Amino acid sequence: MLILVANLGSTSFKYRLFRMEAGGGEVVAKGGYERVEDYGTVIDDALASLQRDGVISSPDEIDAVGFKTVLGKNLSGCVIADQSAIDALEGFAAVAPAHNPPYANGIRQFARSLPKARLVALFETAFYQWTSAASHSYAIPKAWRDIGIRRYGFHGASHKFIAERSAELCGREDVAETARRLYQDGPRQTGAKPFRVVSCHLGGSSSVTGILNGVAIGSSMGFSPQSGLPQNNRVGDLDSGAIPYAIRTLGIPFDEAERQLTKESGLLGISGISNDIRDVRAAAAAGHADAKLAIECLIHSIRHWLGAFMIELSGIDALVFTAGIGENGADIRAAVCDGLEGFGIQLDPVRNEACRAVEADIATGTSPARVLVIPANEELVLAREVFRKLSS
Ligand code: AMP
Repeated sequence: MLILVANLGSTSFKYRLFRMEAGGGEVVAKGGYERVEDYGTVIDDALASLQRDGVISSPDEIDAVGFKTVLGKNLSGCVIADQSAIDALEGFAAVAPAHNPPYANGIRQFARSLPKARLVALFETAFYQWTSAASHSYAIPKAWRDIGIRRYGFHGASHKFIAERSAELCGREDVAETARRLYQDGPRQTGAKPFRVVSCHLGGSSSVTGILNGVAIGSSMGFSPQSGLPQNNRVGDLDSGAIPYAIRTLGIPFDEAERQLTKESGLLGISGISNDIRDVRAAAAAGHADAKLAIECLIHSIRHWLGAFMIELSGIDALVFTAGIGENGADIRAAVCDGLEGFGIQLDPVRNEACRAVEADIATGTSPARVLVIPANEELVLAREVFRKLSS
């Protein structure tokens, strides 16, 4: 099955074309465009270049297109990307303004350009469909809940891959199979012994997810991707009382407050240096106090959520690091694990230092919990889910 995975940003379009079969799949082509003004033009250009390069002889050969959609109003899961998916994206366009409008446009455009292909949307919220009401409800009036304000959780594709892969690496094939088939079969009874994972997706955007037997129990992210850990330039958790106070005291309009919280906060906001942790780390090493504070805030927040999920899970079998910072940041991993030996998390400092962006177990041989680094590959997750959906 030829599956094109479309990654649509507010001004970018990237794609990977996968050839998928039951045993796995491979990337057969990839490409992308920046500063996109008209999705229709670049999508048609991408299809023409695939033909020109001999990857396909006709666009009709592409069986399906997968979209990593973020947040839908009253819609989640791995679904056929039809008008109801477009309506759901547009219904929450104001909550995810950088993501939802491009995906709604992209789905419309692909429906025109590839009328024979099946279009599938995998919502980032899908992995959290089975969280308890207590974990996903905010203490707000009913009218607020009725318009869809609740915790959704994001990075679902990445954390679901961690649920599958960590179970495989820990010899829990029963859990791995439940996680793989989650969007087709829902949660299933697994072996008697629970398998408890805390997954840390640490990148430009970061979140921590608790996973029990292959199914998410909660996320550090809430209603929008604004919440949870400090992000590269987005705020993360903030007391709701701070926004009206800042607006009144600083005399700034609401839109400006929103812009500052979405563009000038997070690691950039605290450090005043950069939204890239490598620059912040270099400044901290040179003695910059706010850069040091930015890194400490990130570590503090990761440990806060790690602790919360370890209590909810009554322990931990695997702590996993993924995405740019999680895969490369040995210093951040060491700081997160510092002093947690008594909770069963025993990091091997040599293995940790040696591990850069490769799959590895970096715990000591005798550590009760495994500490794993698992590289993220969200496009592959999309291709796999689209393949499972259309084959089931
Ligand atoms: P991602 O969102 O997964 O692409 O991750 C992007 C983030 O990974 C950026 O903020 C980078 O600072 C971070 N990153 C990339 N390489 C490294 C590295 N060698 N050490 C620490 N962080 C890194």
